[in-house]
Amino acid sequence: MASVEYKKIGKSFGSVEIMKDVSLRIEDGEFVVLLGPSGCGKTTLLRMTAGLETISSGELEIAGRRVNDVHPRDRDIAMVFQNYALYPTMKVFDNIGFSLEVAKRSKAEIKQKVEWAAAILNLTPYLQRYPKELSGGQRQRVAMGRAMVREAGVFLFDEPLSNLDAKLRAHMRLEIRQLHNKLGATTVYVTHDQIEAMTMADKIVLMQGGRIVQMGSPDEIYEKPNSKYVADFIGSPSMNFLDGEIAAEGGGAIFRAPGVSIPVPAGTAARPGQKTILGIRPNDLKVTGSGPISGRLILAETTGSDVHLHVDVDGRDTVAVVPRAERLQPGAPVSLTVAPEAIHLFDAGTELRIG
Ligand code: ATP
Repeated sequence: MASVEYKKIGKSFGSVEIMKDVSLRIEDGEFVVLLGPSGCGKTTLLRMTAGLETISSGELEIAGRRVNDVHPRDRDIAMVFQNYALYPTMKVFDNIGFSLEVAKRSKAEIKQKVEWAAAILNLTPYLQRYPKELSGGQRQRVAMGRAMVREAGVFLFDEPLSNLDAKLRAHMRLEIRQLHNKLGATTVYVTHDQIEAMTMADKIVLMQGGRIVQMGSPDEIYEKPNSKYVADFIGSPSMNFLDGEIAAEGGGAIFRAPGVSIPVPAGTAARPGQKTILGIRPNDLKVTGSGPISGRLILAETTGSDVHLHVDVDGRDTVAVVPRAERLQPGAPVSLTVAPEAIHLFDAGTELRIG
């Protein structure tokens, strides 16, 4: 196991700077997910960690050693790629053991390590098959087995589940996380899928335009997003946003917008007159007889377990996730309520959280 530390990492391709001052410490044995939309720089950061891309500025340390100029082979890392990169002409056994073969380890050691990895990954019955004779999930596990036998200090994953269907993805999420719990190797995992990040990470590092915008545990990021960008990226269905203004009322403050009037929790640093964006997660909205948010039903979508009500609140499609029992007709007036402590407020200019 090993820690990974990025110190003011920067990256330019020619004259184009795509990353600046990325600083982050990943502790020994931690599972960190680099999350962000396409083009935010997460793959480039992973590739710099692996040594597949040069580092333009800053320092990268693995296990306390500066590795900026160290060959990928000597960095104590193992990488699992999106396309798995299995050798099609080699059986599963040889695919998993290939790096040991190259390192000229003894036949007995290779056999012992491949069988150990195969047992953990439930691949024992498939060792004599070729990759083309395996399902997507099995191929994915072979790619992991190949990384495991290298006994590297750091595992790097680049969107390893993106080629799988939804059900298998959910299954593999669980398997990778269980494997991590078993092996305890430091893991850096790149994805644009916030569900993967929320379900697997010890720590999420959310990126935007080559910068880290927030890092923390999944709960911290979900409960206290530090900007509208983060709030919008995390959570499904996405957070609702309403534009309004803070007003003083009876010694306290309220958020006001057409069709909306919500008290602001005491101690919030919102000033009367401040243009503000109100954020509410769909699961925090409840239908009531008369509530502080009113609109008309656009559509009710049933997901099976619950219903997503799309409510027009002053022209904004506002989503409430409610129990299946709520039966409403399109066009019907809907009143919604939210617990004051469940609201999120962002300054309309900076889009940063009002604490
Ligand atoms: P995706 O999920 O689409 O892979 P990403 O967040 O991993 O996105 P990167 O692949 O790291 O993003 O790319 C970050 C930025 O760097 C992008 O704007 C991309 O266009 C640019 N970039 C990446 N590789 C190169 C390259 N070889 N030459 C020039 N620009 C590049």
